[in-house]
Amino acid sequence: MNDKKKYGFTTTTLHGDRQKPIEHGSLHKPIHTSVTFGYNDARELATVFQGKQPGYRYGRQGNPTVSALEDKITRMEEGVSTICFATGMAAIGALAQALLRAGDHVVSSAFLFGNTNSLWQTVALQGVDIAMVDATDVANIEAAMTAKTKIVFVETIANPRTQVADLERIGKLCAERGILYVVDNTMTSPYLFKPKKVGAGLVVNSLTKSIAGHGNALGGALTDTGVFDWAAYGNILDTYKKNASANWGMTQIRAKALRDFGASLGPEAAHHIAVGSETMALRMERECANALAVTKMLEADDRVAAVYYPGLASHPQHALCTQLFGAYGSLFSFELKDGIDCFDYLNRLQLGVSASNLGDTRTLVIPVSHTIFYEMGPERRASMGIAESLIRVSVGIEDTADLVEDFRQALDV
Ligand SMILES: *Cc1c(COP(=O)(O)O)cnc(C)c1O
Repeated sequence: MNDKKKYGFTTTTLHGDRQKPIEHGSLHKPIHTSVTFGYNDARELATVFQGKQPGYRYGRQGNPTVSALEDKITRMEEGVSTICFATGMAAIGALAQALLRAGDHVVSSAFLFGNTNSLWQTVALQGVDIAMVDATDVANIEAAMTAKTKIVFVETIANPRTQVADLERIGKLCAERGILYVVDNTMTSPYLFKPKKVGAGLVVNSLTKSIAGHGNALGGALTDTGVFDWAAYGNILDTYKKNASANWGMTQIRAKALRDFGASLGPEAAHHIAVGSETMALRMERECANALAVTKMLEADDRVAAVYYPGLASHPQHALCTQLFGAYGSLFSFELKDGIDCFDYLNRLQLGVSASNLGDTRTLVIPVSHTIFYEMGPERRASMGIAESLIRVSVGIEDTADLVEDFRQALDV
């Protein structure tokens, strides 16, 4: 690979590793299981501990197999550095633990992954004020901001109702105010969208979903895009201000969240995620095409009450998605007309499996209100536009005609 040349997404994912020396020429990064790393010179161990020389010390803070994956994610997001965590939630939790203090204020999209919504409630109990607003219009974000706002947090395409945040305008607003803009890119994946382009300073990815793609490993990542000026962020401790200010945020996150809370990604999971990531672009293309075909069929059927998918012209942010992402992702949701029970429908599917993951190679379906959004109760669900009969679908890579036929036949009572 010629490191001066700009290659396409998949080429870079496959060959990017080879820019660093690889043990024995091994084309896949070996799985380094060692928890600790020994040095023949005790002084060298000390310089590594003091951060004056790169190197590994203890597996909780870093591991060569995990570092190779971090470099891969950095290249995918066109960022400057990445920290991996045991799960996507650990990555979002790390952000809160390392960067927020009691008295700080956060503006978050109200249309959120259920566990992120629950996490914000915990963070609120710890003294951080969280405003939850409709992020499809920047005016709501601006109205919620206070002098204490430290972070604006949004998802790209919200799960399960597929609302799309006003990504570019929110980015401009955050840049004007010097506020850290965090975008959870899980639903779009770095193949469809790079939040850096709209001014995000930090990007969240649940590696469990489209990046791994096979549903055999959990993982999460935070990527610093290099856009945000950490010198302007009030909560950096003096200890972490020793290197250039561009590194301050990630240095503090690696120490205060990854090291101290310990939700580290294991080397075996890192390996599985790295292997899965090689085919992400191919899978995303197929999943997006499948989602469009199935949703068009459902929308045209009068037994279906509503279909939510940004690829349909009826979706309120269809044009925005065309402009920003070029495709519309693998997630959609829909409501059946009264008289068709959503559980019976799901049980009639032969290929869609009732299960809760996203971005898997297999098509997965789930009755949202009765499962992943059950704990939040009917009022909060209603405020998020989630009907009691809503079915969420994570479209897989099955043959298009088979999927369309499966979702159609299940309508026949
Ligand atoms: C799944 C998901 C997460 C959490 O990721 P895990 O790896 O399951 O912890 C966060 N954000 C979004 C948008 C997700 O879909």
